[in-house]
Amino acid sequence: MPTYRGSCHCGAVTFSLVSEIEELTTCDCSLCRRKNALMTKVHESALTVESGTDLLSVYEWNTHRAKHFFCSRCGIYTFHRKRAAPDHFGVNVFCLEDFDPATVPVRATDGIGMSVVEPTARSQWPGPREAG
Ligand SMILES: [Zn+2]
Repeated sequence: MPTYRGSCHCGAVTFSLVSEIEELTTCDCSLCRRKNALMTKVHESALTVESGTDLLSVYEWNTHRAKHFFCSRCGIYTFHRKRAAPDHFGVNVFCLEDFDPATVPVRATDGIGMSVVEPTARSQWPGPREAG
């Protein structure tokens, strides 16, 4: 199982990820769209924060189930605890060293449809989108 090292921009927050990265996702929710986030999903046991826990801030919105972590010094989104799978993290793959996102397929996921605060949202999450 490969180990990846990750960090925010200023270097205060560092973390390691022990996981194969076989799929990346984008999300069209109002938050991920603004972050232009490209993420991989890992079980919480695969992610270890090595430094900067005290500088990690958390942003919550909508149902407040997902926890969107970012460095309070440089503002970079590092990872978030997922709403649909709270024992999993979505990790910002652009924070990882020695990882080329172009080598892994990207799947677009439906975030708008999960929202409860956006008027056009569906009441139930329809499940992940099919690839392609
Ligand atoms: Zn930082």
